[in-house]
Amino acid sequence: MTDWHRVSLEKISKEVNTPEGYIRISAPLEHDNIVNGDGLRAVLWTQGCPNHCPGCQNPETWDYEAGMLIEIDIIKKELAKFKGQTGLTFCGGEPFVQPKACKEIADYVRKELGWNVWSFSGFTYETIVEHGGAALELLKSLDALIDGPFILSQRDLSLRFRGSKNQRLLHLEYGTGKILAIE
Ligand code: SF4
Repeated sequence: MTDWHRVSLEKISKEVNTPEGYIRISAPLEHDNIVNGDGLRAVLWTQGCPNHCPGCQNPETWDYEAGMLIEIDIIKKELAKFKGQTGLTFCGGEPFVQPKACKEIADYVRKELGWNVWSFSGFTYETIVEHGGAALELLKSLDALIDGPFILSQRDLSLRFRGSKNQRLLHLEYGTGKILAIE
């Protein structure tokens, strides 16, 4: 296990402390987004990130106490108003430090709206699987994960949906989290 992997396992364990039924977000919900996944997508920007990648474009999303606490039921109602969307993408911040709230929303949009669900994470797939618990349960609710920290020295703006070459677009089997394909 690399040092980075060990540190990231500690970081993923420090979840944002939100009351039951709430999620902490960093920006209003988006819709008709075409840059954070395939098709037309709603985007939920989570608040709180322990990774602190040098060169991060959203450092204002790092603080676990900033942003806005909002009821998950309100998020669901707002998402249901968006028509013609292919799916929902969780962006950050770091969605995997709010795994229970994100999973509840992911399961809602899949079952009630028929959307697919993608997520970005500064953690690798392997870190999430090794950590297990609620983070792994969120992973199992996804169709795709763009994983790994943004590494400034590996920045490549030509990559689909990714900022640096170390990051992967992983297509996942819903329900198991098994990797089906890697881009
Ligand atoms: S994981 Fe994402 S939000 Fe967090 S510091 Fe890295 S680039 Fe920024």
